Amino acid sequence: MCGIFGMIGCENAAKLVYLGLYSLQHRGEESAGIVSYDGEKIIYHKSMGLVSETFNEENLNSLKGDTAIGHVRYSTTGLSHSKNIQPFFAKHKKGNIVIAHNGNLTNTVDLQNEMEDKGSIFQTTMDSETITHLIARASNNDFKNNIIEALSRLEGAYSLILMTDHLLVGARDPHGFRPLCLGELDGSYILASETCSLDLIDARYVRDIEPGEIVFIEKGKLESVKPFPKKKHSSCIFEYIYFSRPDSNIFGESVYITRKNLGKQLAKEYPVEADFVMPIPDSGNSAAVGYAQESGIPFEIGMIRNHYIGRTFIQPSQMVRDFRVKIKLNPIKDVLKGKRVIIVEDSIVRGTTSRSRVRTLRKSGVKEIHMRVSCPPIISPCYYGIDFPNKEELIANRHSIEWIKDFIGVDSLEYLSIDGMLNSMPFKKTEFCTACFNGEYPTKLPKAFSKDMLEKV
Ligand code: AMP
Repeated sequence: MCGIFGMIGCENAAKLVYLGLYSLQHRGEESAGIVSYDGEKIIYHKSMGLVSETFNEENLNSLKGDTAIGHVRYSTTGLSHSKNIQPFFAKHKKGNIVIAHNGNLTNTVDLQNEMEDKGSIFQTTMDSETITHLIARASNNDFKNNIIEALSRLEGAYSLILMTDHLLVGARDPHGFRPLCLGELDGSYILASETCSLDLIDARYVRDIEPGEIVFIEKGKLESVKPFPKKKHSSCIFEYIYFSRPDSNIFGESVYITRKNLGKQLAKEYPVEADFVMPIPDSGNSAAVGYAQESGIPFEIGMIRNHYIGRTFIQPSQMVRDFRVKIKLNPIKDVLKGKRVIIVEDSIVRGTTSRSRVRTLRKSGVKEIHMRVSCPPIISPCYYGIDFPNKEELIANRHSIEWIKDFIGVDSLEYLSIDGMLNSMPFKKTEFCTACFNGEYPTKLPKAFSKDMLEKV
């Protein structure tokens, strides 16, 4: 879970990268960073916290140059630590390398062990540092070939933006797990996780970077290569279900329309009589619209989301039960009292948030709650970059739907079927990774996420 954005050939590129990161904030709230190149040197600013907390006019003004890349991070591989904030950069005899990475590699431990045996020293547990070492050790005189050689060693998920002096590089792994698109603004090229960040800066969407493709952008020219053997496409279906912003197109198609189709399919599979359909805001919004349109049951907003939460410094647990849920979502009692409602949720992971939300709804005097989930039960962890807990904490891995229904406290609970989900997708069902729903992983599994994760479990 990370967002990446890069730009080349534009005056004060870092300022546009900052705006790009702003619109990718949902992909990672833990840390943010931008690295720019001013023609002579690398300049960086990064810290823990949100984009708005990390950057100000002063540090943005110092990030000079016409090339910059940025990253927002949600810790998956590598623990939450300031050392691990991306973009990651290193200087070696072939020049500077700066990397922003989204996805999880599945062979980092093997690669790090191999390189440590040959004398490498790693400062972090990040996949990105491993990639930097591979590039530095590559045996070609040509930088582009060094990158190709390094990437050929990687297994698992990567959408990457790489910057070296005068060169911007975009790459997607041959399975194409994570999104990465190409944009253009006044002749300057942009690489971004999602198209919503192109919209924000009035850039034009050109196309997606294809699975297994590497693009090299230099002096206004783009060169595309596909040097690796073809692999089965495995785009992450959870990007459509929950992770990407609904105003984005990912893998070339609209997230909102796809999410709405999931809701329509859910209404076909699990109809129920009720007074209205409502979402759990905001993640259930688009699917709830689809459910209401298909079923003909009115759509209502039964809970309002507070968008101005920020951070709170009081310890609320003793004072107010369910404080976290309450501060975020407040039910409209006059709408809910005495009503039979269908609540549409995008997904259930641990079940604890859903349980608290239902408890809050019950206090509003609602008569019946029928929960409909716009994806199948999540039973297996993700090794490719979505931050799911381990198998034991995934509620649907350990319990039946009937048990979860009682735990959450609803009158009925139904999940979308795997076939229904795949049939709602905008392209062929064989092109998705659905491992979190059926345990069928498209790659070899990692021995462990990283050495730190090994210590943690
Ligand atoms: P819970 O009921 O505790 O399982 O929380 C489920 C909600 O968390 C979903 O409705 C999503 O909005 C959100 N969610 C889904 N996947 C994730 C994830 N990987 N990390 C954080 N939140 C998630």
